[in-house]
Amino acid sequence: MNQPILQVENLHKWFPLRRTLRQALAHERRYARAVDGVSFDLFEGEILAFVGESGCGKTTTGKLIMKLLEPTGGAIRYQGEDVTHLRRERLQAYRRNVQMIFQDPYASMNPRFRAKDVIEEPLLIHRVGETRQERDTRIRQTLEAVRLLPPDEFMDRFPHMLSGGQRQRVATARTLILSPRVIVADEPVSMIDLSTRAEILHTLKTVQQELGLTYLYITHDLSTARYFADRIAVMYLGKIVEIGAADDVIDRAAHPYTKALIAAVCEPVAGRENQMKELPIRGDIPSAAAIPPGCRFHPRCLFALPVCQEIEPESINISEGHQAACHLLRPPGKTMQ
Ligand code: SF4
Repeated sequence: MNQPILQVENLHKWFPLRRTLRQALAHERRYARAVDGVSFDLFEGEILAFVGESGCGKTTTGKLIMKLLEPTGGAIRYQGEDVTHLRRERLQAYRRNVQMIFQDPYASMNPRFRAKDVIEEPLLIHRVGETRQERDTRIRQTLEAVRLLPPDEFMDRFPHMLSGGQRQRVATARTLILSPRVIVADEPVSMIDLSTRAEILHTLKTVQQELGLTYLYITHDLSTARYFADRIAVMYLGKIVEIGAADDVIDRAAHPYTKALIAAVCEPVAGRENQMKELPIRGDIPSAAAIPPGCRFHPRCLFALPVCQEIEPESINISEGHQAACHLLRPPGKTMQ
């Protein structure tokens, strides 16, 4: 396997909650623990998918990596350098290398900007390309890379003159224009018509292979994760509960939550492709402000043991690179043979 380009260690993001008068008088503090001890390596040239229900902390993890949020604790290293807390100049250099594709391309574009203005903006911010002609050449090449062909036909279009899929391609071109090394793609196809999702993912994957990029792909959709990613990390209430090669996680799922997510993906039915059935677990995901003790999944788990209410399971190795945190794999007090 390649070297890790990004290393995340025990990352936390706790958001303080409003206090009642009684809590303020008692100096009590309460937090929503959105990210609560996340560790993983992102290897150069791979696609790692973060999968889970909304509210599991996957988008917050992406924002922490993008430095759009300051972590409460833990560390982030990019190519071995600690980037957990960066000052302005270093932050700008980091952001040239680590870029984000947002969920809603329409919301992330100025409606008065033409496609070429949208894509040119990062070049101007980072002072790349001295002349207009130089920048236009680069914009054309990037439009070609994301398969908006011929590029001149799209350069002068405003966002409302583009389809959802074309807008996402423009947003991707904007991300690629600075030649980043890592891309955090947050639900990049969730706002797009079902019929064009596969096409966009295919383009993203082709671009990744052609340019040797590394992706962190954030999604609630396990079926696209399997198609798109080399590895999958399943998140639940601020923690990774299972991680491994995409085939291992899907075909040999070890954690009851992963198994439930897999069971919830419908058989393909015309007009309902990729839709989720109701999860075969109890209730809804609890609030990050009230994380249950012990295994945080225990109130919803159909296999919970008494110990699950008290002791948080550790992540253990199932096979090479495949890990999960569940007492069913190794009850507390028992060592591996
Ligand atoms: Fe379920 Fe217990 Fe495993 Fe948690 S540790 S997933 S509650 S069996």
